[in-house]
Amino acid sequence: MHRSKTTFAFLVLGISSILLCMIGSIYIGYDRLNQMEDAWKRDTAYQEKLQAAFLMREAIRERSFRLTIASTLDDYFDKDVELEAFHREAGRFLKAREDLQKLNLTQGEQRALHTLEGEIKTARPIIEKAMEDVVNEDWSMETRQILYNGVIAQIQVLNSLQKFVEVFEKAAKREAENAQRKIKKAQNNMIMLSGAATVIALLISWSVLIHENRFKQRMGKDHEILQGISNTDALTQIPNRRRFDDFYETSWEQAVQSGGELSLILIDIDYFKLYNDKYGHAQGDETLKTVAQTLQQVVHRSSDLVARYGGEEFVCVLPNTNQEGAQAVAQQLHRRVGELKIEHSPSMVSDYISVSLGVGHIAPDHDSSLKQFFKSVDDRLYRAKRSGRNQII
Ligand code: GH3
Ligand code: MG
Ligand code: MG
Repeated sequence: MHRSKTTFAFLVLGISSILLCMIGSIYIGYDRLNQMEDAWKRDTAYQEKLQAAFLMREAIRERSFRLTIASTLDDYFDKDVELEAFHREAGRFLKAREDLQKLNLTQGEQRALHTLEGEIKTARPIIEKAMEDVVNEDWSMETRQILYNGVIAQIQVLNSLQKFVEVFEKAAKREAENAQRKIKKAQNNMIMLSGAATVIALLISWSVLIHENRFKQRMGKDHEILQGISNTDALTQIPNRRRFDDFYETSWEQAVQSGGELSLILIDIDYFKLYNDKYGHAQGDETLKTVAQTLQQVVHRSSDLVARYGGEEFVCVLPNTNQEGAQAVAQQLHRRVGELKIEHSPSMVSDYISVSLGVGHIAPDHDSSLKQFFKSVDDRLYRAKRSGRNQII
């Protein structure tokens, strides 16, 4: 009872652990999906920011290009075309910056944008003055200096823009790495949990197998003990009547099947009632035990059986034994009991405990009767008694 309670508790604990591991795994898997979606969203957001920053840089680069081209042209009309493009690029720059500002910038990004705008604010008048002078074709030394200043300012702005773009590139890369790390960790946790669930399941199966085995073994032993008890005579500790019945029937069937022989000896102590009367019932019991043990010592072949048939009567089954063999065993039984020299003064046939024996032999077939054969041996025992006891017939 105690053990089954422990087993039950163990099972409940084990199965709960497995369930917990599974739920944990599902939770982590779900969380991982969320993280992936999150990472994907962040990545998309950074791509958009990056693109806006790129467009800002491209607009300024184009503007710088227009300024340089315009300075090489002679035709008035062509210069006007470049000026128009120059202004258009400023519009594209502002549009891209507006898009970027809508994209939920971090504090660091806002700071970078602010710095960039400060630099553009300083450079812009210089660049625009240069373009204006180029278009108006005022080619004085002073104009050349202004153009030179404009180009330098453009280069500075472009460098700043490059740095600005890098801010977004770095952030995007960091985000991607971060998400990847998180996903890797979730994967490891899932593997650990599934591993733990498998180990617990194996442990449970193992322990259940061991318990079952132990239980079976104990059942087997209990069964053996019970069988032994029910087949053994309580007083003499040799096989009892019940065991004899089984053994006799089996041996008989085997003899019928194989066409073999079978011998049977019935043994009865002479004048045992008188023995009890004289020496007491307790002493009678002791003598019964001694005689039983002696008979068993004589019949030592594992295929033979000596049993207490009841009272002071014993029976001996000898499978595959012919008449001579049975006779020899009977003589030995008779002799060995006599040699015990257990005093029996009221006996009218001997000074000591003696036995009478009936011996029978048969090669049974399907027509033979096991009961009839037993009766014929019992008749011989009766005849031995009638003929003066202490003898074999
Ligand atoms: P016979 O020579 O004709 O066999 O005479 P007997 O006295 O042995 O035969 P009977 O059948 O008249 O008596 C058998 C006696 O065996 C009766 C009983 O007192 C004794 N007996 C039977 N079972 C036990 C037992 O378990 N213990 C003891 N002490 N005596 C027993
Ligand atoms: Mg008797
Ligand atoms: Mg008797």
